[in-house]
Amino acid sequence: MKTPLNIGIVGAGGRMGRSLLENAFATDTLNISAAIDRPGSARLGEQIGPQQIIATDDLASSIEECDVIIDFSTPDACMSAARVAADSGVPVVTGTTGLSAAQQEELNVLAAQIPILQAANFSVGVNILAKLVELASRASGEGFDLEVFEAHHKHKVDAPSGTALMLGKAAAKGRDLDLEEVATWAREGHTGARSSDEIGFQVLRGGDIVGEHTVFVCGAGERIELTHRATDRGIFARGALRAARWLHTQPPGKYDMADVLF
Ligand code: NAD
Repeated sequence: MKTPLNIGIVGAGGRMGRSLLENAFATDTLNISAAIDRPGSARLGEQIGPQQIIATDDLASSIEECDVIIDFSTPDACMSAARVAADSGVPVVTGTTGLSAAQQEELNVLAAQIPILQAANFSVGVNILAKLVELASRASGEGFDLEVFEAHHKHKVDAPSGTALMLGKAAAKGRDLDLEEVATWAREGHTGARSSDEIGFQVLRGGDIVGEHTVFVCGAGERIELTHRATDRGIFARGALRAARWLHTQPPGKYDMADVLF
């Protein structure tokens, strides 16, 4: 049997942290070697998983036990973890969003010391969809109109979703366009006819929809609808664990999910 990969989780008490633990315990190829949360977290001191490791707020003292760190926490915690990991030469997978420009810059610099994989969406399906959208956008060319639709639960506070933006960027890339210059974020009233190079966004909010995204490629007499439907938030955790397996054998550098999949 292969030796399991030892994973340290930063943000272990959070929604993503718990999903990562659950999904890691479901396989015998991964071992949780550190569970880290913030000082004062109710989870500290808890015994976690088959190995009964103790959740702590001190990554530095358990970093040597880890082959890879997976971080889904806060921007400050992500940066602290990345610095500790860089000092010890341990790769980092991070899905934490909302890093400031300065934090993002520092993370990019740390990637000269260790492999760092950062993704705004760890779903394998969404990353495959983005590639298909870029391909369809490029191959269809002018005469086909591109529109992005997304639907989420009623508690979501931002729109369009980060994933819709990612798909819009993929569509724009396929036409060598800059999304910021061609995006139409909403339509109402006398909008005039649609221009051929705009990329439109439609948003639905309601109920408990986990996340649906469709990119329409609409031509004369035909259209393609490329759709991803999320039914379970575990897709992000499983994608991050797959990324960790891939990352631990890579040289230092900055990576994303496309590097894992393609
Ligand atoms: P959450 O609030 O449920 O969990 C965050 C956890 O981090 C909490 O347990 C918190 O106590 C812990 N934490 C805070 N400070 C810490 C510190 N100094 N050290 C260690 N742990 C600390 O949030 P969540 O829903 O799990 O999301 C976490 C992050 O992941 C967010 O930035 C979110 O946007 C992002 N996210 C990304 C993806 C993706 O696919 N990239 C998917 C879901 C969530």
